[in-house]
Amino acid sequence: MKTIEKKAYAKVNLALDVLRKRPDGYHDVKMIMQNLSLCDELTFSVDENTTEGIISISTNKESVPTDERNLIYKAIKLMYETYGLHNNISVKLIKNIPVEAGMAGGSTDCAAAIKAVNELFDLKLSIKKMQEIGVKLGADVPFCILGKTAVSEGIGEILTEIPGLKECYVLVAKPPISVSTAFVYKNLKADEIKVHPDVDGMAQALKNNDLSEICKRMSNVLETVTACSHPEIIIIENVMKNNGAINSIMSGSGPTVFGIFDSKEQCEKTAKIIRDEKLANEVYVTVPV
Ligand code: ATP
Repeated sequence: MKTIEKKAYAKVNLALDVLRKRPDGYHDVKMIMQNLSLCDELTFSVDENTTEGIISISTNKESVPTDERNLIYKAIKLMYETYGLHNNISVKLIKNIPVEAGMAGGSTDCAAAIKAVNELFDLKLSIKKMQEIGVKLGADVPFCILGKTAVSEGIGEILTEIPGLKECYVLVAKPPISVSTAFVYKNLKADEIKVHPDVDGMAQALKNNDLSEICKRMSNVLETVTACSHPEIIIIENVMKNNGAINSIMSGSGPTVFGIFDSKEQCEKTAKIIRDEKLANEVYVTVPV
């Protein structure tokens, strides 16, 4: 038995812009992705004495499917088919990242599975090759393979590494509502977006390590669509901002809200307020990775 452990980190979008809807139905985006310390923990075990190619997944979170719908399953299947692999593999997933939250929970597990198969079978694939495989399973997967901080363009496959957030605390709060990414994009009128986030300015501010200028540029064009049906998103943002967050916005298509703090104490106090007021049931104090 050969075993490998992987941490799969959550992401937030420090800025999220949608440039246009493409004829193929996808949207061209321009966003800044930032990994956080909040992560899923995965253990992959390959039985070298077997040849059936059986993929089995177990998880602590009931709502996450363990069959062929799981992105870990899809990633292993695609890697097995592409590279002619046959050993049985089992995966134990400890799910800590909120599900359907706009934090790329499934995509990051998918990326971890691609990397794990690469290492377990000594395939020696480059990051670029793994990203080419990953994008077939989701637009956020190439970033999750790269990790840390990047500007993401195209549908998510054009990535430029940049310096990340430093010396701050990120409070993550997911209200108990469910948001479909497809619904949000369907209801976004990309050609009517008046104010576009200053993504280039934020990338420069990150290079300068200027937290105040970074936070000034936090913006997400999907927020109006999601917050229109779920005003609790704005309420949580205001609670964060009124309690010491330098700024606070929604991540991805939501409903997770995150706020950036320079004080750990203030971040933890605000986490308690949000929990006590039952504004969100999944609340985490994290740091950038
Ligand atoms: P994104 O930020 O990429 O839009 P998300 O946070 O909106 O992601 P996920 O948490 O990735 O959404 O889950 C979306 C759906 O994918 C869930 O309803 C779940 O059934 C399915 N899914 C498949 N594989 C996984 C996985 N490994 N972890 C979580 N959900 C998964």
